[in-house]
Amino acid sequence: MVIIENANIDDKLKILADSAKYDVACTSSGVERKAEKGSMGSTSACGICHSFAADGRCISLLKILYTNECIYNCKYCINRVTNDIPRVSFTPEEICSLTMEFYKRNYIEGLFLSSGILHTPDYTMELMIQTLKMLREDYHFGGYIHCKTIPGASSELVELAGWYADRMSINLELPTADGLKRLAPNKSRNAILNPMRQIQLGIDQSRRLLGMKGGNYSAYSYTRDRLAKKEPHLTSSKVLFDMPKIAPSSPAVLHRQSDSLTKRGFAPAGQSTQMIIGASGETDFEIMSVTEALYQKFDLKRVFYSAFINVNNDDELPSPADGPPLAREHRLYQADWLLRYYGFSASELLSDKRPNFNPFLDPKCDWALGHLEDFPVEINRADYDTLLRVPGIGVKSAGRIIKARRMGKVGFNDLKNMGVVLRRAVYFITCGGKMFSNALHIDEDFITKQLINKDTLLRNNTSESSITYKQMHLFDFIPQ
Ligand code: SF4
Repeated sequence: MVIIENANIDDKLKILADSAKYDVACTSSGVERKAEKGSMGSTSACGICHSFAADGRCISLLKILYTNECIYNCKYCINRVTNDIPRVSFTPEEICSLTMEFYKRNYIEGLFLSSGILHTPDYTMELMIQTLKMLREDYHFGGYIHCKTIPGASSELVELAGWYADRMSINLELPTADGLKRLAPNKSRNAILNPMRQIQLGIDQSRRLLGMKGGNYSAYSYTRDRLAKKEPHLTSSKVLFDMPKIAPSSPAVLHRQSDSLTKRGFAPAGQSTQMIIGASGETDFEIMSVTEALYQKFDLKRVFYSAFINVNNDDELPSPADGPPLAREHRLYQADWLLRYYGFSASELLSDKRPNFNPFLDPKCDWALGHLEDFPVEINRADYDTLLRVPGIGVKSAGRIIKARRMGKVGFNDLKNMGVVLRRAVYFITCGGKMFSNALHIDEDFITKQLINKDTLLRNNTSESSITYKQMHLFDFIPQ
């Protein structure tokens, strides 16, 4: 390991912000732009990323590692112990001064702090807590802090970090325990799921016992609770991919702390996790089932997906010819949205027989094409949850339709103004009993042809003439 002892703070920032870029539990801007004459503000690719606050605001964060030294040897990670790369570590004081200086210059609104494992998980977590404590108590920093939990750190330290941070996260890393064992041999599933459970219970207790607002109530729980009351069959889907049963660490997860520590609440912006996609061979169905289980059992705010990049050229890892599976990552994010806001379950979207998303169609269109018996939906009669299942109709536009119907009949022209994406929706809806055009008909091949646009074909190096619609079944598009 090449440890650089006398690196200055700029060099450390370059190295440790660069090392943090593979963590997608918030999204990096990656933009470098100098302020120009007559304009104000500049952006830096170096470690500024965005996250979303509990009230939905997008905020910029300084995204760094405490250290890129690590005793573990995760095969997919640039910072693994066997890599011959320059290693540096911040001190708590350095991170505090960077955060405060960037904050004062309006570059950032908060800090995203992760770390490699220095000596032991507890030693590392203690350094991270020292940093957060100093920021909150000595520098009186009231901005947003996202803190990564180090797998294997003791529960007392995890708790303390939760009092200082707004959001906590611990990366699941690989979707299955088998993948984790193969590619991250020093980590265990329980060393990840136990703190995840502890944080979940802590957030819940903080919300209930201390009366903190917001906290743990994720979009997923809200959607499922609403649907469970109305459409119990939609919430009865079996979680196909069982998570190990984890007992709560203790009935009272949160210990007595000073008022100054508890006034912010325990991780009031909830917790999230990240999975690497495409490194360990899981299907989309397995990934979505794990995601669903994480939302159901751990009440996560977000699951992030990171298309695998083979930075180490390790023989045990795939080297996809087309680079990282970004299109797949995109489909998973679309499907994740369907789980959280649209009341879909993983087993409605995919199955053992059809384990991967159609690369040519977004998951909602794909689902609708497999359920044409539910269409067309009459815009002037359908309830909110039925509207949500129509391709091209989103949460906002469904709400606007319901509201507008109180004033009179809704027609196709009105839908466009309400934000409905008509080029997708027209195949699945009627207004006043009529379809948009007599040329439209509810037929799987016909609609598939219309929905797969030329741009998609070009992106995938496919010519339109190479696709025949009548002879092929929709599922033939799914790669084996
Ligand atoms: S624990 Fe694994 S993933 Fe994390 S920094 Fe170390 S080698 Fe990388």
